[in-house]
Amino acid sequence: MSDFKLLINGRLEDGDQTMDVINPATEAVFAVCPRASKAQLDRAVAAAKAAFPGWSNTPIAARKAALLAIAQRIQSKADELARILTQEQGKPLADATAEVYGAAAFFQYFANLDIPVKVIEDGQGRKVEARRKPLGVIGAIVPWNFPLILMAFKVPAALLAGNTVVLKPAATTPLSTLKLCEHIADLLPPGVLNVISDANDLGGELTKHPDVRKISFTGSTATGKKVMAGAADTLKRITLELGGNDAGIVLDDIDPKTTAPKIFQSAFQNSGQVCIALKRLYVHESIYDSMCDELVSLANAAVVGDGLQQGTQLGPLQNKMQFEKVKELIADAAKHGKVMCGGDVPERGYFIRPTIVRDIADGTRLVDEEQFGPVLPVIKYSDPEDALARANASPYGLGGSIWSTDLARAHSFAEKMDAGTVWINKHLDLAPNIPFGGAKQSGLGTELGDEGLMEFTQLQVINMAV
Ligand code: NAD
Repeated sequence: MSDFKLLINGRLEDGDQTMDVINPATEAVFAVCPRASKAQLDRAVAAAKAAFPGWSNTPIAARKAALLAIAQRIQSKADELARILTQEQGKPLADATAEVYGAAAFFQYFANLDIPVKVIEDGQGRKVEARRKPLGVIGAIVPWNFPLILMAFKVPAALLAGNTVVLKPAATTPLSTLKLCEHIADLLPPGVLNVISDANDLGGELTKHPDVRKISFTGSTATGKKVMAGAADTLKRITLELGGNDAGIVLDDIDPKTTAPKIFQSAFQNSGQVCIALKRLYVHESIYDSMCDELVSLANAAVVGDGLQQGTQLGPLQNKMQFEKVKELIADAAKHGKVMCGGDVPERGYFIRPTIVRDIADGTRLVDEEQFGPVLPVIKYSDPEDALARANASPYGLGGSIWSTDLARAHSFAEKMDAGTVWINKHLDLAPNIPFGGAKQSGLGTELGDEGLMEFTQLQVINMAV
């Protein structure tokens, strides 16, 4: 038995099996979670399919009201949800609380959008309308770094457009999502939103399911490719938000002392487990040493610990696999560069202190791969065009940033960056009204904003003789 339940067809139920969820700060089992079977997944999809005609024909005003009610309910449960999130994910409680309120704000944002019919032509014997219809059942698949906010990239937009949803959180962070859905279950008709948790074994089944019309996926590039392949047979719509290896290019005119704290935050928030974290830093040779020194002193001062403890800035890595991967990358980086500080902490919990590696070059694993952890390679350059070329040489293209006091100069570099989002003098800034998507192998399609909403719809043209 578990305090957490699946939500299928409006009813809370146990999984056909259970699984343990580990608190990464203690490595101890913190809760027992339902583990859905394939039969439960099939029932969730069937419930969503059955609920679709009713929900898609519900006036949009009523769907908006439901989203607003959900936002309020999430806010009213923020303390409970944040504590669960910290214990399953590891992030500091203040960050978890911000994530819960952020998720509520995303529901509010979509509650204020409309999906108007666009008249393309009207006159001279012809009237043409572009309408946006819901697709049907959406499979929403979420990773473990931001379980609630990434859920909120998908669910409110899908529901506003009139779709029904089967939501699947990641195997190591299912609990905050299950609890949130339990709290909002009474605010939607049965079957409109279903949630199942799995042991990393049902994502492929959801992707292949013939009654699912679209997969909205956030996760690694490797799994994204499997989603694309799995969706091919039924020609599902897919939106893929995948991995990144965001470069930051620091031009020669910035002050390292005032800029380093912003860069540090951009690289180490959520212990570096952010798709759009700053993951490689290119710094001009004239300020290279002082920038490295500033980053090292910030790293040494950072408070790393259990997210439930007051004052913790950085929590543990979320799971053992990621912990081992990041340690391996640091060990490899030590062969090619200078590890200035950081490394793992010899205590219980998947803790790695913020790690700065200098005198390291492109062509090493730490620079070329997505580390997804608290370790930042700092790379020296002399020619900014060359730094830009190296930044663009990655197969990833999620985000990037240019740091300079000369906005026009920074803008000219930003335009040439091959990434879905480029920030100037910041990194990691997202909002529900700003469309978000990756270039190259960082993704396919867009989430958030009007553009993201449209991806949960099918374009229908009605062309009339008048
Ligand atoms: P992952 O790809 O291992 O898992 C993501 C989700 O996919 C989980 O729910 C998992 O159970 C499910 N899954 C596993 N196998 C599947 C399959 N065959 N078919 C369908 N679904 C399957 O990713 P992760 O390790 O949980 O997350 C980290 C990765 O996610 C990083 O690469 C990070 O950059 C990326 N990410 C991207 C964004 C973005 O918006 N671009 C946001 C956050 C994280």
